[in-house]
Amino acid sequence: MILKEGSQRTTGEDARRSNIQAAKVISEILATSLGPRGMDKMLIDAFGDVTITGDGAAILKEMEIQHPAAKLLIEVAKAQDAEVGDGTTTVVVLAGRLLTAAEELLEEGIHPTIIIDGFKKASDFAAKVAEEIARPIQLTKEEMARVVINALSSKIVSEAKDYLAGIAVDAAFQAVEQRNGTPYLDLDWIKIEKKKGKSLYETQLVQGIVLDKEVVHPGMPKRIENAKIAVLDAPLEIEKPEWTTKISVSSPDQIKAFLDQEADILKKYVDHLAEIGANVVITQKGIDEVAQHFLAKRGIMAVRRVKRSDIEKLARATGARIITSIKDAKAEDLGSAGLVEERKVGEEKMVFVEKVQNPKAVTILVRGGSDRVLDEVERSMQDALHVARDLFRMPKIVPGGGAFEMELARRVREFARKLPGKEQLAALKFADALEGIPTILALTAGLDPVDAIAELRRRHDNGEVSAGVDVLNGKVADMAALNVWDPLLVKQNVLRSATEAAIMVLRIDDIIAAGAPKK
Ligand code: ADP
Repeated sequence: MILKEGSQRTTGEDARRSNIQAAKVISEILATSLGPRGMDKMLIDAFGDVTITGDGAAILKEMEIQHPAAKLLIEVAKAQDAEVGDGTTTVVVLAGRLLTAAEELLEEGIHPTIIIDGFKKASDFAAKVAEEIARPIQLTKEEMARVVINALSSKIVSEAKDYLAGIAVDAAFQAVEQRNGTPYLDLDWIKIEKKKGKSLYETQLVQGIVLDKEVVHPGMPKRIENAKIAVLDAPLEIEKPEWTTKISVSSPDQIKAFLDQEADILKKYVDHLAEIGANVVITQKGIDEVAQHFLAKRGIMAVRRVKRSDIEKLARATGARIITSIKDAKAEDLGSAGLVEERKVGEEKMVFVEKVQNPKAVTILVRGGSDRVLDEVERSMQDALHVARDLFRMPKIVPGGGAFEMELARRVREFARKLPGKEQLAALKFADALEGIPTILALTAGLDPVDAIAELRRRHDNGEVSAGVDVLNGKVADMAALNVWDPLLVKQNVLRSATEAAIMVLRIDDIIAAGAPKK
């Protein structure tokens, strides 16, 4: 007995087959969600909460996965999402196709090492071709919007895609900065806040930071110009002891004295904040009624229980230093904003901090009829912003709709001829796997995939580099003319990650699983 009791071991072919199957299942689930006509998934979690989405990253996040190889694929998709923020579905689908191809090769008796080498060579070559196919774009709002729109078109929000893309691009251009002479977009500058409303078209870009909070006391001002803001990570209340405490009093005067003392401490805090010049107080913690009263009397506007992430954004945007000890607060800790105002948004009130010191800080205030729409708009906005960031990082694009993959497949096939025997077979299969992307897009468009791929091959052989699947009109067409583009950075990452994931799965020839721990 070498392994602990209850452990399970699977080796060689069986191990590989089990892993490939698991990865294929994940890939097939996602495949039908690819592209603008992709289907949505309804995901129900253990608490019965329902999410409906067609966003690959979101689907994977909600699914409860057991199998280790399937989990590995999900890790790859998450990495893709974190690095470039788009192309998650594509990466999983491509990895699945590569593994299907590998399975066929294994069945023909080709050793995994040869398959891995063939895939690697094909992928390196494809990366070079990608550079050749890519076109540079001008970093203007118009050019960028044309690409960003595509990141929105596969989502529930597609009817409002021009409008939303415009907002995403405006936000990106406002937040972008120059670092070492190149543009750099830090997405932390762009806050997304959601509020129910009548329509998506009420979504707007706000210059500054919007807090989903109300001013804490009715007696406080609702609008303050030239605000000096104390951003606190400290409560304006007397903290209750952690355990039950008894205070012995022997007369009503003593109770009064005790309460007065509490009030006195709070008054001192408020007085100190007023003395250093604060006319707005925003805290992550609570503000009790007595403190609210003193603040109101001093004409200070206050907001409480603000999320940590918002507190940090606020500090960064207004130039404030986060105050953790009120009595030590100094005038230079205060942030500034041209205007802080509570406004009604739909049925609720929100606090707008505008004309902030750093004009890079903006908020996209997302509106929509239901929580599901709001969530989906938020996800697509994130995608759109990531595409903008990718384009600032590398202002190059490739034709979408599977045109890019078709062209790579064609070139990889040519290249494969130069490879020795069995590696050649692997490289050819790699090309087949690439064609998986246009095949699925054709399926979602209601086309016959065999006909579509045949036509695409013919057109690419004739030098039509951007012939792809026009998913919305159900035919093969020129993607450049239709303006369907994807950022090169996303596609490069897809290629690399999908190949790495497939290779990682192929390398495994032994699965040793420990038994469940004894109760
Ligand atoms: P991912 O999560 O991988 O980004 P999407 O569901 O966003 O997946 O689909 C992206 C794919 O859809 C890309 O291959 C892109 O080129 C393609 N696509 C997007 N819009 C269109 C369109 N209007 N016509 C054809 N293909 C499109």
